[in-house]
Amino acid sequence: MRTPFLAGNWKMFKTVSEAVAFAEAVKGPLSMLKGVECGICASAVLLHPLSLALKGSSIHLGAQNMYWEKEGAFTGETSPVMLGGIADCVIIGHSERRQYFGETDETVNRKLKAALAHSLMPIVCVGESLAQNQAGETEAFVSGQIKGAFADISAEQAAGIVVAYEPIWAIGTGLAATSEDANRIIGQVVRATLAGLYGKDVAGQIRIQYGGSVNTGNVAELMSQPEIDGGLVGGASLKPEGFIALCEATAQAKSKG
Ligand code: PEP
Repeated sequence: MRTPFLAGNWKMFKTVSEAVAFAEAVKGPLSMLKGVECGICASAVLLHPLSLALKGSSIHLGAQNMYWEKEGAFTGETSPVMLGGIADCVIIGHSERRQYFGETDETVNRKLKAALAHSLMPIVCVGESLAQNQAGETEAFVSGQIKGAFADISAEQAAGIVVAYEPIWAIGTGLAATSEDANRIIGQVVRATLAGLYGKDVAGQIRIQYGGSVNTGNVAELMSQPEIDGGLVGGASLKPEGFIALCEATAQAKSKG
């Protein structure tokens, strides 16, 4: 039984005071919610104040990126050691990092290994572009991204990794994948590739989120699909009431399954 995980990706939004006010608004309602794990992935400068504001709650706190080295002359980077004791998870290989900051399957793999070595729960993002989707290349491309990200990762480590399937054409566009398509790619491509690497038992333990224009109107339908184990949500996670509603709808949809 995989516990669903709904994480907000705030991208480059919110000041410290806005972030703390958000945490204070969601902390009580989300701590009482059963059957779903919730998380906030925020800019590195927000993580320490957020960790203080969320103290005592069960809400995961994640970075949106990190470097793989522990320390050194890497100006502007954040290391897994720095995240220790502040964040408990980290997004790796978001398509915006791949597109604008030169992230590759190889750097994703290095970061994934570093996150695991420092006990951070990774959320590894994969997903095809519109052109790849239209050319019928989704299966091969997404499967290749999974194989690249998971290179030299053991089965025991793999079981604790979260994967987010995020078709790039659905991110921030208001055009989510249909729940059937998302379920099919997650089951028949992402989980099937993981089963090829680690066997069905381990693949069956790995949580796979869907991301791309999830909102309060479509979340219940998406989360009612058996292969979808939660969501990675950008825009719709920025307001406390919306984020609470997304988490509640995920718990409810999964309790029916
Ligand atoms: C994301 O940032 O990972 C994302 C899916 O964004 P949005 O929900 O806004 O499409």
